[in-house]
Amino acid sequence: MIVNYPEVAVKELLDHVLEDYARKYPNTCKCQRCRDDTMAIALNNLPAKYVVKNQKGQIFTKVVFEQIGGKAQVVAALVSAIQKVQQNPRH
Ligand SMILES: [Zn+2]
Repeated sequence: MIVNYPEVAVKELLDHVLEDYARKYPNTCKCQRCRDDTMAIALNNLPAKYVVKNQKGQIFTKVVFEQIGGKAQVVAALVSAIQKVQQNPRH
């Protein structure tokens, strides 16, 4: 089984970054469509990094972040994706 590291990182951070954004912009929509659009845009802006899962199927988030250039890069991609989606929501 293969996984794409940025996908793991984006899923892990989406809720946190979205909540943070919604505190500043209370009208932020958090419906499933907007969340999916946000994840898709963020992932298209991050380099793919496919790896094979180990036998236990564990993925360590810390390692994930190290492999893809750090947590800050993922947060930045998410914030920029949230801005795009909120300016032009498709729900
Ligand atoms: Zn929405």
